[in-house]
Amino acid sequence: MIRFNQPGLVGAELDYLAKAVADGHTSSSGPFSERASSILCDALSAPDVALTTSCTDALELTAMLLDLGPDDTVIVPSFTFTSTALAFARQGARIRFADIEPKTLGIDPEHVAELIDESVRAVVVVHYAGVPCDLDGIQAVLAEHPEIELIEDNAHGLFATHRDQALGTFGRFATLSFHETKNFICGEGGALIINDEADISRAHTLIDKGTNRREFLLGNVDKYSWRDTGSSFGLSDLLAAYLVAQLEGAPDILSKRAEVTERYTRALAPVSEALGLQLPHVPEHGTSAHHMFYVLLPTSEARNDALAAMKARGVQATFHYVPLHSSEAGRRFSDSHHECPVTDDVSGRLLRLPYYNDLTVADQDHVIEVFIDAAAATA
Ligand SMILES: *Cc1c(COP(=O)(O)O)cnc(C)c1O
Repeated sequence: MIRFNQPGLVGAELDYLAKAVADGHTSSSGPFSERASSILCDALSAPDVALTTSCTDALELTAMLLDLGPDDTVIVPSFTFTSTALAFARQGARIRFADIEPKTLGIDPEHVAELIDESVRAVVVVHYAGVPCDLDGIQAVLAEHPEIELIEDNAHGLFATHRDQALGTFGRFATLSFHETKNFICGEGGALIINDEADISRAHTLIDKGTNRREFLLGNVDKYSWRDTGSSFGLSDLLAAYLVAQLEGAPDILSKRAEVTERYTRALAPVSEALGLQLPHVPEHGTSAHHMFYVLLPTSEARNDALAAMKARGVQATFHYVPLHSSEAGRRFSDSHHECPVTDDVSGRLLRLPYYNDLTVADQDHVIEVFIDAAAATA
């Protein structure tokens, strides 16, 4: 049986974990959190990166930092994980779902432009599969609405670029996930990328139960107290220790994943036309973080048959997002219904192949053979 995902160690995870335990700082804001944060700030050229317990939490923090409420609307893609919308709905904002465009499977700037009205406070983009969404298109739309904030849910795209600039540095805020299914992992974890210096102090207050404890730790005040709203969003230093080892191993992880992409592409590109398959597309001005490898089959029935045929031969392929705009909660939290035909179409036809750092060549060759047999049987 070849699993869809298999989390792997790349270096000093267990040594760092032992050191965090031995040194005794296991709550948030410890030395490993500081190290992870500084690795990320340097790599991204971002003013600050704050570690959180999850990407969902970092998105909730974003909604709190923007002081969103019931009179505000946030535009999010329908083709994404629930958290992208949930975090803003939880803060009381209304959600408006936009369709994706078929090339990058990221949010469609033309649809966003149609959905904008005076209640819209933010647009959230996702860089699906680690490939930059149409940022040029989104920036052009938002240039006409400077009051609307761009937010990046960058759960897939850490270390990918658009026009040589890191994904996660285009929005006022961006979020990362270190969940075990992502490229860099620590079990459960996330981060908030803060791209405007003016947001740093308040972000840390909201992360740390509404207190100015950070100012106290920096020696700027002689005691700390309750200052604002907030929650307990800080990542344990035990998990940050694990994460530091993963981030130090980033070049290794990224090159292994790039190879997996390369091998799938080399095997499937020559047969894609005959089998009616659409393979992932990386825009000319971008690079990918290699989060996954997906294939679009010709029809939804062909996709479902292929999934079943592969499962019967012990290969765990999988579908992906169920459209949010027509989900039960999506309808409840959205302020108006808009058709998202590309989302519906892609969601029905998309199949993800097994993909992880240590997928062996032999196993991958087997996956490819099983997939081609399955796709040929339905073609
Ligand atoms: C995984 C994921 C999330 C949630 O990440 P957590 O760290 O599990 O909260 C949010 N958005 C997208 C696009 C994701 O893929």
